[in-house]
Amino acid sequence: MKKTVAFLLVILLFFLFGCFNKIQKQPHSSRQNAESPTSDSLLNEYLRNLSEYEGTVREYGKAASYIHMDEKFVIGIIYPKTDLNSLNTAIDRWVNETVAMYKAETDTAKSLATPAELTVSYESYLINNKETGIRMKGTFASLHLAHPVSIIKTFNADIASDSLLKLEQIIGNDNLESFRTLVADTAGVEQQAIDSEFLDNWLLTGTGMEISLPQGKYTASYEGTKTITFDYAELNSHFNLSLNGVSHEDSPDNQTPDQNSTPPQNQSSQQTVDPNKPILALTFDDGPSVHTERLLDIFQGHGGKATFFVLGSLIEGREGTLQRIANEGHEIGNHSWNHRQLTTLSHNEITDQIMMTNAKIYDVTGIECGIVRPPYGSFDETVQLVGQELGIAFVNWSVDTLDWESKDAEAVHTEIISNAKNGAIILCHDLHETTVDAMETVIPQLLAEGYQLVTVSELMSFSHSTLEPGKMYYCQ
Ligand SMILES: [Zn+2]
Repeated sequence: MKKTVAFLLVILLFFLFGCFNKIQKQPHSSRQNAESPTSDSLLNEYLRNLSEYEGTVREYGKAASYIHMDEKFVIGIIYPKTDLNSLNTAIDRWVNETVAMYKAETDTAKSLATPAELTVSYESYLINNKETGIRMKGTFASLHLAHPVSIIKTFNADIASDSLLKLEQIIGNDNLESFRTLVADTAGVEQQAIDSEFLDNWLLTGTGMEISLPQGKYTASYEGTKTITFDYAELNSHFNLSLNGVSHEDSPDNQTPDQNSTPPQNQSSQQTVDPNKPILALTFDDGPSVHTERLLDIFQGHGGKATFFVLGSLIEGREGTLQRIANEGHEIGNHSWNHRQLTTLSHNEITDQIMMTNAKIYDVTGIECGIVRPPYGSFDETVQLVGQELGIAFVNWSVDTLDWESKDAEAVHTEIISNAKNGAIILCHDLHETTVDAMETVIPQLLAEGYQLVTVSELMSFSHSTLEPGKMYYCQ
């Protein structure tokens, strides 16, 4: 009898040890994890559906981000930077105007328990490399408004002449009236509702033209934004389209964006850290950006490692940069898919934000990321619970350089050097050129002062044998 009890106890202990080991292992799998994700069915599921989750087509331009936060208002805008001046100028102006408009709207509200949030993302299409169509789409949500506001804006440009396209150039001036009627009939919109803005949001895609009718203006507000689609052949049968990318015989070929098919790599070149010397973790959020490669060059020149908390939606088109981060021994952290304030999202939406990004990171680098920095540092019990379920830990910071506000290399330098201390985690953003400028002097000076520049996981490994899933860490 005693033997049986002892045997059962041994079995139970084995079982418990197995569970414990599994829970503890996950957050540490962020580095050098060469395992296949088959052990992680959730990651597998997100990997399988990656193209679906990404959703948006991005055939033209490279994603850039505009991030801002203050007590009343947080902003996360993902927009394209293209080779066309005309397009970049128009998009920049629209972003600035949109931010200013909702900033004014937020200023009218009394103090809010949760900051108002402006979120915008984009899709872009190429029409046989001749024209491009870009649609910015987002929402503005604030507790002082009954419902979130839908935001939509389209841009179309001719690539060879670097100029924005007008609808009448394509449809023909004389055809505008009948085109308006066609759209109204197709959408079921009353003639009297049609005003001068009715056709503002038209978009060239790979297969045809889409016209978005904003929420509530031409249709009932419960219908949301309504989109009417015509393929090019159909439009050509009505009008003689003047589009370089569209031959009059057939629809354009579907463009497939460049796929970077470099095989996944493992993070390597882990540095040796002397436990008797001070350590410090420089962290860079909101990338990868156009400035990230230069930052990597600076680290390569002076030595030291950093942690990059990346946005999943910015990886497409910058796969090489992400692979370089990993290959050069830096750490990749997760900063959500498109910079949403996680504390305003549902449990499932938080899971999506984290797992979509983890799937994208795994897809490009083969690394299972175990650390998340929530956008704006926003954290609550629901976020914590999701972290526990997913086996990931959260990492904020102990020193905020406010680099996004100062946009001044000198100020960033002073901020870091005067607050540097053993075990600190320093918050910077590699989407600002001035921050990368600052690193030209910050990195050599910190090294000269005897600091070892380590990744977040290296820093943590000195004080914590494992990172607890769901827990928030601020410094060593
Ligand atoms: Zn951020």
